[in-house]
Amino acid sequence: MKLSSHKLALCKMKMLKLLRTSAGQTGIIQFNGVRKLSSIPAPSPKVCIVGGGPAGFYTAQHLLKARPDVQVDIYERLPVPFGLVRFGVAPDHPEVKNVINTFTQTAQHTRCSFHGNVSVGKDVSVEELQRAYHAVVLSYGADGNRRMGVPGEDLAGVYSAKDFVGWYNGLPRNKELKPDLSCDTAVILGQGNVALDVARILLSPLEILKKTDITELALATLAESRVRRVLIMGRRGPLQVACTIKELREMVNLPGTRPEMVHADFNGIAEALKALPRPRKRLTELLVKAAMEVPGEQEQERRRLASRSWAFRFLRSPLEVLPSADLTRAAGLRLAVNRLEGSGDGAWAVTTGEVEDVACGLVISSIGYKSLPIDPSVPFDPSKAIIPNTMGRVQQAAGLYCSGWVKRGPTGVIATTMNDSFDTARTLLQDLESGALDLLTAKTGSQEVAALLEERGVKPVFFSDWEKIDSEEVRRGEARGKPRDKLQDVEEMLLVARTQGPTTL
Ligand code: FAD
Ligand code: NAP
Repeated sequence: MKLSSHKLALCKMKMLKLLRTSAGQTGIIQFNGVRKLSSIPAPSPKVCIVGGGPAGFYTAQHLLKARPDVQVDIYERLPVPFGLVRFGVAPDHPEVKNVINTFTQTAQHTRCSFHGNVSVGKDVSVEELQRAYHAVVLSYGADGNRRMGVPGEDLAGVYSAKDFVGWYNGLPRNKELKPDLSCDTAVILGQGNVALDVARILLSPLEILKKTDITELALATLAESRVRRVLIMGRRGPLQVACTIKELREMVNLPGTRPEMVHADFNGIAEALKALPRPRKRLTELLVKAAMEVPGEQEQERRRLASRSWAFRFLRSPLEVLPSADLTRAAGLRLAVNRLEGSGDGAWAVTTGEVEDVACGLVISSIGYKSLPIDPSVPFDPSKAIIPNTMGRVQQAAGLYCSGWVKRGPTGVIATTMNDSFDTARTLLQDLESGALDLLTAKTGSQEVAALLEERGVKPVFFSDWEKIDSEEVRRGEARGKPRDKLQDVEEMLLVARTQGPTTL
């Protein structure tokens, strides 16, 4: 007898209900392709998550809390967890990193395990993970960066903010970046929070940075830095800056620096304030105040003594990075002068035909990160650079889910990523409940993957191994009066992870 797909789904749901009501007593066995009720325990859902950043940990947290039988394994490419919380969040924002405590609790949950040093798509394919687990959640973030697409972009002295941030935060891949900070003026393209992080790190007094977990290598380079002026360049106007007020306030109050804006850029802005929504209004008020207001005596004195300056510049788009006379490195930027069409957040920049050159020896492009495809078997939308999905369900790929930046694009703070990951977890749970995910077949999970990895000579780093790396970093940091001194070399991380007992490297 042939059952219609609708009847089959109903049948599955009834069987699952039966399983749930008598969990532990009734299960399904498969024999010669025939499924029968048996007295063995029902298979517990095995879910694997790709990426040990905020999206991965928050998805895991929600799944573990919502279902007492789910087993979650997190696979992370690096030997160390936490993604951009470790390698993105600025070193002088230690309070943001407190989320690591919650992630640690999740990783230490009895039904969760962390497998670092496993690069999905290289060491194990997504299809292999799908064979081993009932569901796979892709939370691997945004590993690429948007390029400016202008001549001279690859000259020495031009860096992506992504690499620069990775460098000062100890990302192994960026250890050798060696940014050249021997010039007076730096231009940062983009006016988002990453641009402000970079500007702050370039201009902060060393006494502040020394107490953070910034790498020693970055500290030494910044100590030699000759950068005195940082221009933060936007293609649109003051009403469209992408940073937030807290980060702007930090710039305004940054010791040893003064703002140097162009007054004419703010013509008409004060009049526009009234009509703005509240967060944008407060942000713009602060911007106008920093640019236009004559400060009180004390602030005037502070600004007079400042040896470094920063400024926002508006309505400029990069056309070309200009080379030095010997053509070896960046010496300036050619910018298109824009005007705005439309209004508010949705206004767009249109070139006027006018061009402006700015002399600068350092260009940092901070126009956004970008997700990349992980594996040919996973759908990917190249125009939006995300995995196409509906509420976290990967389109046309049953059993595959996504969360975080790879799901919605590279914007949003950790709290946004948390909500988004909880949404994906809810979607997955619904599919478990409805029978849309096949729970009838027991899956072997990490056992099967471990065998594949062993065959391929890949040795995972477990959470307890990471704890050894963590202790070693904290120990090294203590000696230097900082919260930690990060290991920056994968080989060294692996060595510490595999050391028995207390580390004395
Ligand atoms: P990620 O954090 O990037 O995590 C993805 C993880 O997947 C990484 O650990 C990566 O190694 C791993 N991975 C990648 N490829 C693979 C693979 N093939 N196999 C296995 N694992 C893989 N938000 C705030 O609230 N406050 C801040 O101060 C703040 N500062 C920021 C500073 C910077 C420079 C940036 C870029 C972002 C900042 N954010 C901040 C935003 C916040 O970091 C993001 O919202 C969040 O990290 C996105 O989480 P995610 O898990 O999607 O991506
Ligand atoms: P972002 O906030 O999206 O800012 C990107 C900037 O680049 C914008 O100013 C944008 O201008 C500009 N830009 C984009 N394409 C451009 C182009 N082709 N030419 C010129 N300019 C271009 O991205 P982000 O700064 O990378 O930050 C990513 C996310 O992480 C954000 O949500 C941010 O809030 C978060 N984050 C938070 C913190 C924090 O909370 N402290 C710190 C860092 C990052 P347009 O507006 O004109 O597109």
